[in-house]
Amino acid sequence: MRKMFFVAVAVAMLGIVAGCATKEAAKTEPAKVEPAAEPKPLTQYVDTPTGRWMVHDEARPAPTIITPGAECGSAPSDAVVLFDGTEDSMKANWTDTKGNPTKWVFRDGAMESVEKAGYIQSKQQFGSCQVHLEFATPSTVKGSGQGRGNSGVFLQGDFEIQVLDSYDNKTYPDGQCGALYGRFVPLVNACRKPGEWQSFDIIYHRAMFDKDGKVTRKPTFTAFQNGVLIQDHVTLEGGTQWINAHAVTDFRPLPDKGPLQFQDHGNPVRFRNVWVRELKD
Ligand code: MG
Repeated sequence: MRKMFFVAVAVAMLGIVAGCATKEAAKTEPAKVEPAAEPKPLTQYVDTPTGRWMVHDEARPAPTIITPGAECGSAPSDAVVLFDGTEDSMKANWTDTKGNPTKWVFRDGAMESVEKAGYIQSKQQFGSCQVHLEFATPSTVKGSGQGRGNSGVFLQGDFEIQVLDSYDNKTYPDGQCGALYGRFVPLVNACRKPGEWQSFDIIYHRAMFDKDGKVTRKPTFTAFQNGVLIQDHVTLEGGTQWINAHAVTDFRPLPDKGPLQFQDHGNPVRFRNVWVRELKD
């Protein structure tokens, strides 16, 4: 019996010693920690029409250097100047819609609409483009609604941004000054008083059609009036020609390029400082 007791004590002590040894080993062996991965250098690439380039790539082609106009609104060096305030440039660059000399008049450095003279249009034709022009509705206020200072700017010979005396002159909003006629109301009414010079700056991406005359890309417009955004990259869902009081035209097939036109709507609206920059599609 006494012998068995000693054996039990010995076994217990061995267990304690073994346990301590295990704990000691756990204390001395460092925990295994995976080393942090070296941060990989990050290089981003962009695919562009001129090729594949790294972000901040010195070798990437730089934009063409142009000379901006000396004053705000004056033509930059790469613009096609369609009217520079001289009668010569009016005669050189503008006709009626049949290619004949226009019956609009040159007066005080401006091209002025004449009732029943019809539209005036540029000889040069444009597709996607940036347009700058200045206009003034008559200082003598006559008529109301659509009958007051009405003209219009037509892109690709088809889509109209309305010119109207919309200074304290109520009309349907999708036909007021700066509207894409019958399609988009301008974001704000940024009109100056009748007779005062105002500006339009328009960014236009042309409509495209397939060989069957079906539209394959709808045209988009961004426009500023007097420096104020009035059309924010809107996409036309059809044409802008008047059909009746509550309807405008659908798309009609158009050539890739068309003239810039100003409308004769029977009111002596004036235009000056007209230039265009062709844009890539
Ligand atoms: Mg009009």
